[in-house]
Amino acid sequence: FIIPDFRGFCHHLDQIYNSCKNNTNGKVASYIPQLARLKSEHWAVSVCTVDGQRYSNGDVNVPFTLQSCSKPLTYAMALGLNGTDTMHSYVGMEPSGRYFNELCLDYNNKPHNPMINAGAIMTAALVKPHLSAADRFDFIFNMYRRLAGDEFLGFNNAVFLSEKECADRNFALAYFMRENKCFPEGTRLHETLDFYFQLCSLEITAESGAVMAATLANGGINPLTGDPVLTVDAVRNTLTLMHSCGMYNYSGQFAFKVGLPSKSGVSGCVLLVIPNTMGICLWSPPLDNNGNSCRGVQFCMELVSRFNFHNFDNL
Ligand code: GLU
Repeated sequence: FIIPDFRGFCHHLDQIYNSCKNNTNGKVASYIPQLARLKSEHWAVSVCTVDGQRYSNGDVNVPFTLQSCSKPLTYAMALGLNGTDTMHSYVGMEPSGRYFNELCLDYNNKPHNPMINAGAIMTAALVKPHLSAADRFDFIFNMYRRLAGDEFLGFNNAVFLSEKECADRNFALAYFMRENKCFPEGTRLHETLDFYFQLCSLEITAESGAVMAATLANGGINPLTGDPVLTVDAVRNTLTLMHSCGMYNYSGQFAFKVGLPSKSGVSGCVLLVIPNTMGICLWSPPLDNNGNSCRGVQFCMELVSRFNFHNFDNL
């Protein structure tokens, strides 16, 4: 086993879970009513190792929307479809140092990276653009399902509708990119935005999210089904950008202190990847000022203080 004393490890996870449970900092996202209604008490931790050992504690079977945690996953899928060079002729690989939804492009007039909204809208434009909207959704839904090894995957239509309703900034970003001729020729702007909102509205549970993260940890092969969902190159690129850009404006500090690829989203989700070892999904809706789950970040800190998982431990 990759974690020889898994029971002992789980005992530590229980302790960290309980310690984070006492953290009542942060505020639930309120830009749409569907997120504002999330209960701050929800707290879920789920782990899946690359050899299929599982740990779950808390609300691990309550569905929530992926939101920005969809960004690295869709990016990985788009890489498999287009290859690195084509992808990165449309979107950069540099941390922006700006807010995730800021109306700005890099000095090449490209979105800075696929982990911020502009880059994720661009990524959505690069997934099977020749398909109809319905077939595109079917394609991506099936890819996500494979990533989760057929565990829970849903779609929250109310979140989709209200995302679409409250999307002035995302529309502005898309028009700004079109003005700057960022999109491939023939991109249908509104359809692309709808697709982006749909990706944000995909639902997982902490348990199915852990399998997704474990698939990344395992180089793209789902550890439970053996399904080669993503290419190794796609996963390498994805983990690299999660490492440098995954935690909003806390990304640099998170890379420094935790040293692991991760991505958080406004629903309070954090996907954490320990390469070649395990995937972890954390979910607790209250967010800190950077937009990261308070309990989620605390969990990551406590985890690396107990175990040498930081990228540059073991030197
Ligand atoms: N649907 C949100 C938006 O595009 C995603 C926010 C997030 O999770 O960062 O604004």
